[in-house]
Amino acid sequence: MPLRLKQLDLHGYKTFATKSEFVFSEGISAIVGPNGSGKSNIVDSIRWVLGEQSFGLLRGKKTEDMIFAGSELRPRAGMAEASLTFDNSDGWLPIDFSEVAIARRAYRDGENEYLLNGQRVRLRDISELLAKCGLSERTYTIIGQGLIDTALSLKAEERRALFEEAAGIGTYRNKREDALRKLDATQHNLERVLDILAELKPRLRSLERQAQRARDFNQVKADLHAILKIWYGYHWYRALEELEQAKQAADEAAAELATQQSKQEDYDQEVGVVRAKISNCKLQISNLKQDDARLQTESQTLARELAVADERLRSFDAQRNSLSLEFSSLESQLAENAQRVTGAQAQASPPRPPKPNNKSRPRKRHSPSASPNARRSASARLNPSPRSPAWTGR
Ligand code: ATP
Repeated sequence: MPLRLKQLDLHGYKTFATKSEFVFSEGISAIVGPNGSGKSNIVDSIRWVLGEQSFGLLRGKKTEDMIFAGSELRPRAGMAEASLTFDNSDGWLPIDFSEVAIARRAYRDGENEYLLNGQRVRLRDISELLAKCGLSERTYTIIGQGLIDTALSLKAEERRALFEEAAGIGTYRNKREDALRKLDATQHNLERVLDILAELKPRLRSLERQAQRARDFNQVKADLHAILKIWYGYHWYRALEELEQAKQAADEAAAELATQQSKQEDYDQEVGVVRAKISNCKLQISNLKQDDARLQTESQTLARELAVADERLRSFDAQRNSLSLEFSSLESQLAENAQRVTGAQAQASPPRPPKPNNKSRPRKRHSPSASPNARRSASARLNPSPRSPAWTGR
């Protein structure tokens, strides 16, 4: 029989803090060491990789016990890993690899991982693969320390059992036991069915009546179902027709809405034109109001000026009347003074012979007593200068 176990790698598993390799070459391999150096831990690691779940068999209580717990020189490890490499060149494992490495990892939080040729897989995948070649859980035998002594001292019957187990008969025995258990269960079920049948026999007629009623009920139910189908179908088609009519009405309403919207757009345009006109007119009104205000201001100014001119005119009229009166008084004074001068001249000189012709000399016509300056002053007061402000405004 060819050797199939090629190599065991441990890292962080129990005593093996650092990475340790065990290469199994042809022939017998032996691991030698003092007590407590970890020989049994190597065997435990093989069980562990093959998916052993019993901590009792692994000589621990929990997953953490599989991980290196630390020593005086080295801190504890966070993870334990063991990898078992098999030679599969003859295809004894149903997998397309000439070498198969099964690995298991455990972390301090209790999580376990399984790897098949470096790919993460489930425990179930490993178990199924091993079961196909007779290496499933508890179907292999590890002959531990002292077992050979025990085996030699066993009775013939007991020794036979041990050899059968080592030869792999255990798998088939387990299967046989499983099959027997199932057979027992089936026998038990059959007995129960027979019991139930015996129990039901006296109630057969009543059960037949109940069954008939159940069949009638199912028939009525099916009929009702068919009638309801017709009824709902009728209402369904009516609803569809109503829906169609409603859709048509909605389409018409939508068309009408579109027409009204188009009209509204026309109206909006007209309103826009009218609004523009209104705003133009408002502008004109505003201009006219401004003109009106300006003319009002001018008119008020002119009215004020007119009032002032009227006032001045009245004042001039009063002045003229006063001057006119003064002029009349001065003329009468002038006449009196001329008479007095004439009288005085007549008394002072002898009468002269009459002049031959008055018309032959140019006659100087002037008031005997009024001096030229007095006459100019009076005339100026009666006829004010045309440049006087009282006359410019009218
Ligand atoms: P013996 O020949 O007496 O049976 P052995 O070589 O088989 O001894 P093992 O039983 O494999 O030795 O190893 C036991 C040792 O492993 C103990 O000293 C124990 O402290 C150590 N050990 C077990 N679990 C761990 C762990 N998680 N971390 C560190 N050391 C551990």
